[in-house]
Amino acid sequence: MNLLSRIKSMFRPALTCADANAFIAEYIDDALDQKTRKSFKKHVEMCPNCSVFLEQYNSTIDLCRNDGKVAAPPELVETTLEFLRSRGVGEA
Ligand SMILES: [Zn+2]
Repeated sequence: MNLLSRIKSMFRPALTCADANAFIAEYIDDALDQKTRKSFKKHVEMCPNCSVFLEQYNSTIDLCRNDGKVAAPPELVETTLEFLRSRGVGEA
């Protein structure tokens, strides 16, 4: 993405970080409609925080799916859980 469109996106935020965090589980489950999915991807592309978060979220899910087969680095799981807690995600 070039600088101009990056600046434009900043003035017309399609999605906030809170929105992106709320959509992340559905994005991974492929449960978002096309428009939301597009906005989500766009946000993650221009937002370093969310891009790292998505990466960590994916890694954590992979580790969970590999339950027992691959040792999950405790720091990574803890960091991700901490992040989720700080965002108020996962609180029932
Ligand atoms: Zn963000």
